[in-house]
Amino acid sequence: MRTPVVIGNWKMQGTLADARALAAGVRDGVRRLKDVHVGLCPPFTALAAVGEIVAGSPVKLGAQNCHWEDAGAHTGEISLPMLADLKCTYVLVGHSERRREMRETDDWINLKVRAALRHHVSPVLCVGETGDERRQGLTFTTVEGQLRSGLAGVPAEEVGRVLLAYEPVWAIGTGVNATPAQAAEVHGYLRGLLSELASKEIASTVPILYGGSVKADNAQALAAESEIDGMLVGGASLQAPGFVSIVKQAAHRVAPARSK
Ligand code: PEP
Repeated sequence: MRTPVVIGNWKMQGTLADARALAAGVRDGVRRLKDVHVGLCPPFTALAAVGEIVAGSPVKLGAQNCHWEDAGAHTGEISLPMLADLKCTYVLVGHSERRREMRETDDWINLKVRAALRHHVSPVLCVGETGDERRQGLTFTTVEGQLRSGLAGVPAEEVGRVLLAYEPVWAIGTGVNATPAQAAEVHGYLRGLLSELASKEIASTVPILYGGSVKADNAQALAAESEIDGMLVGGASLQAPGFVSIVKQAAHRVAPARSK
């Protein structure tokens, strides 16, 4: 079984003081947990401070975005060498809010994935369909296109260093999560594609997280699906007790009884 991964995406929220308090709360809350990886993606302004707070603990640092160039005249951007310097373990790539608000293209997202791999920061490649796409029966077509373009040119052996996050756009920040069965169906499809792009062995090691209105009261059912390897959590990662509860439920995942 793959070790579950739970990552908090704080988005554009909070002051430095808020970030410090939240990071300390999560660090202390997950201290005794085993067999789960935990990541925090604060705003860029809080990365260094959160990095100091979680240093030496099992909680890893992540960034919400990156540029693909190592350095240069790119006002307002943050490079992978900068993130690696802060000891970031993860970087979110292709979050639907960036695809929509910043008009991020599949080509840029692919450049970011490859840059992250070059700098030994694990990209968390986010894919997911809109509500319209789901209603039109385009869920698999959409996520397949996003996955194939996101990983274009990534050698098979490098695919094992990527994490995927299936985040249906209609579930992000809406309070309506995908059902465990809906998520597991898409995760299974994505894993099949990874087998094709790399190999069955490599695909079996890639964590596929679910994101979209995960909360303490729906985490257990999601975590119990064997195809769901953890969660990318937005709103519910902004309060340490709720986020820690989600991490605990992912760590103690129990498979549901299946009727024969
Ligand atoms: C996200 O933004 O990645 C996310 C899943 O948000 P929320 O948990 O708030 O739906």
